[in-house]
Amino acid sequence: MEIYWETRIIRGFSDLEYRGNFRTMKIKSVRGTHDLLPEATQLWQEIEAAARHNFGLYGYAELRTPIFEETELFARSIGAATDIVQKEMYTFADSKGKTFSLRPEGTASVVRAFIEHGLHHDGGIHRLYYIGPMFRHERPQKGRYRQFHQIGVEVLGSDHPALEAEVIEMLHRFFEHLEVEGLELLVNSVGCTNCRPAYIQLLREQLNTQASDWCSQCRQRAETNPLRVLDCKTPDCQPLIEKLPTIEEHLCEECRRHFSRFRNYLDLQQVPYRVDPRLVRGLDYYVRTTFEMVSDRLGPTQNAVVGGGRYDGLVEILGGPATRGFGFALGIERLVTVMGERPNKSQSVAPDLFLGFLDDASFEECIQLASHLRGEGIHAYLDFQGRSLKAQMRLANRLGSRFTCVVGEEEMTSGRFPLKRMEDGHLVTVTREEISVQVKS
Ligand code: ATP
Ligand code: MG
Repeated sequence: MEIYWETRIIRGFSDLEYRGNFRTMKIKSVRGTHDLLPEATQLWQEIEAAARHNFGLYGYAELRTPIFEETELFARSIGAATDIVQKEMYTFADSKGKTFSLRPEGTASVVRAFIEHGLHHDGGIHRLYYIGPMFRHERPQKGRYRQFHQIGVEVLGSDHPALEAEVIEMLHRFFEHLEVEGLELLVNSVGCTNCRPAYIQLLREQLNTQASDWCSQCRQRAETNPLRVLDCKTPDCQPLIEKLPTIEEHLCEECRRHFSRFRNYLDLQQVPYRVDPRLVRGLDYYVRTTFEMVSDRLGPTQNAVVGGGRYDGLVEILGGPATRGFGFALGIERLVTVMGERPNKSQSVAPDLFLGFLDDASFEECIQLASHLRGEGIHAYLDFQGRSLKAQMRLANRLGSRFTCVVGEEEMTSGRFPLKRMEDGHLVTVTREEISVQVKS
């Protein structure tokens, strides 16, 4: 596989390009993708740790799946008529002509793995989460990228509305942990295979009577996926959407009851929400409960930080036994935007101890000492750029090291080391073994 790609990439350049531009050309990151530099990864790690911690409290375990799958998996689960499958997937063929796609979302892969590994055999409830990159060929703009990252949760094996409310309460706790404010929870029911078809037919009829008023995409959606019209972002369509019938009045008795129980459980958990009868999800597999969490700190057309809902038919669509499912996906980039600038909580880059040396022999001693101290859990630092001792001490100051220790011939023979606390200049002389005790105290 590796060799195959290498040759393909090189063959893509003409001989001239290869000899000329290729070597000097500056290569930049691909449009719609981003590097996360160390000052940003700290917050990302905090977010991921908060997810792992809080989801763990509810019994969720992590699942990691490959970032590419057979295209068929996404076409079948997300739906052939959706924007994602029609225009947003990164699809490629391998040397045997098999077609693969970079995953545009996580649920399809989770369900594939759930079936493939027979997780359903124990008949219990499976609580899973994932964290990782997703890929969609969208027009890059603020909050919309081609590689972005999601934290997702799936719970398989139950259709209890209290479980839905619990998942949302868990999200609530996660946001509280991260001190995220200003998110609004929107909920709706999109009905089920019993009641939705009649509503969709009604929508289609209405859309067709005034077809010329709608944007071209909506005219197309009227045929392929009328529900998605409710999700149209074109300004001209908004007043028209307002006039469309809502699904609320068309829910069957069971869906109505499910939705009302779900809201009762939210109340019980004291989770505030607003019913948005026009909230639909872009993916075909959703039934009944759907929800989004939105923020006005994001752009008007990409204000959702979290989207989720129930997908009871999906496991069957992918060849597994009838299994209920509920879940959500959260966009990490959008969450980071909502969180805004945060003061750095931990100074993880500042060393605990800066080891200064005078010559080659004491440099070697410092290398060994640093290794020993790291084994004790201490962040030890030494210079590798041939600085004079004076310059080493300036560096120690600049890095904000808590302690310094200068090692010379005398220290090496006596086995006693001068440890200076930088904050107040306090100096103690300790043995090699006592260094870590002092630094930790
Ligand atoms: P939107 O309506 O904003 O396009 P969506 O319905 O396509 O969202 P989902 O498939 O439900 O989004 O994905 C869940 C979350 O993932 C979104 O709420 C958002 O936070 C994030 N997300 C989706 N697409 C992108 C993207 N292209 N770039 C960055 N984040 C994204
Ligand atoms: Mg989208």
